[in-house]
Amino acid sequence: MAEGETIFAKIVRGEIPCDKVYEDERAVAFRDIHPAAPSHILVIPKEPLPSLLEAGPEHEALLGHLLVVATEVVRLEGLAEQGFRVVVNNGKSAGQEVMHLHLHVLAGRPMGWPPG
Ligand code: 5GP
Repeated sequence: MAEGETIFAKIVRGEIPCDKVYEDERAVAFRDIHPAAPSHILVIPKEPLPSLLEAGPEHEALLGHLLVVATEVVRLEGLAEQGFRVVVNNGKSAGQEVMHLHLHVLAGRPMGWPPG
């Protein structure tokens, strides 16, 4: 893999398969390979932004779009009524393993607070 390349960049380019639930010109949503809840979907930008820390004013529209896609996915999956959680892990101590920004959309079980 080229430097800075991630598994999610390969998913965006269709080089490795994923269980896709949504795609448009700026974002892709697909099921997490190791689901942490009965419904666990990742929403990612096609642009390889590593994390929230690298986002600047020029990314405002993209960040908003990712949240809109997350709610669209929730509706498509029939999860709106039961409630859901959207999580962005940022940095290693917060649990970020893939350095390509992604929103976790989790639903289908009670969610504890505060998160572990
Ligand atoms: P992070 O820990 O970086 O916040 O989340 C990365 C997520 O990506 C994890 O929940 C992990 O299960 C998921 N993941 C890692 N590799 C793949 C993959 O190749 N395909 C899919 N669908 N999910 C992946």
